[in-house]
Amino acid sequence: MAIAAHPGDALFTMGATLANHIHNGGEGVFVNLSLGERGHPTIPTDTYGQMQRIATEDAARLLGAETEFLTYQDAEIPADQDAALAVCDLIRKHKPSIAITHWKGSWHKDHRNTYLVVQDAIFYADLRSLPRALPAHPPPDLYYADNWEDADNYRPDTFLDTSAVHEKWLEACALFPMWRGETGLIRYNDYYRSLAVMRGCLASFNYAVALMSEPEQRVKKVQTLDSRKRFL
Ligand SMILES: [Zn+2]
Repeated sequence: MAIAAHPGDALFTMGATLANHIHNGGEGVFVNLSLGERGHPTIPTDTYGQMQRIATEDAARLLGAETEFLTYQDAEIPADQDAALAVCDLIRKHKPSIAITHWKGSWHKDHRNTYLVVQDAIFYADLRSLPRALPAHPPPDLYYADNWEDADNYRPDTFLDTSAVHEKWLEACALFPMWRGETGLIRYNDYYRSLAVMRGCLASFNYAVALMSEPEQRVKKVQTLDSRKRFL
């Protein structure tokens, strides 16, 4: 489950990870807290929001993923109880074993709030004594996406080979005006395409995404530090 503030974040920074999971026989769902409808300098927000929704649905179809949309306004995503419960309900509905979202070290308010919403949503989804329409679901493994807007203290520890889905992921991203350079000066296409190459270089894959694990996931519980004996 990819949980993003805006559709561009979902596809550009989490899409290859989802596509790879689906390619390996898993399922995937893109959850967008807003449509990112304020992201175009000239197209009216209603029209652009619809374009973003259609692009997300088309991209998800291409990658074999599902979509979910919450109805928060772009730039006004709240870190509140209602948002946490809405995402909690989607976690209980889709039962993900893995979730990927924004890292908190972001200059973007919507991204920071999405991080907070996801923390609480995972807690609520697991809380059996919290009555909702669907039963509780245990916490998924949580990863943070490699997003240029969320770069403060971002320290990736996992490199995922996305070579098998790279071309399909690029095709899905190209459905978005933002990817094609129609919304401003940031060259999303060049940046994220190059990032896949650069992360691949570090990991000895053709293409890769870098992910940052939830800190407590990095704790190892071992009976010896000798890796040769650890699994005897
Ligand atoms: Zn965003």
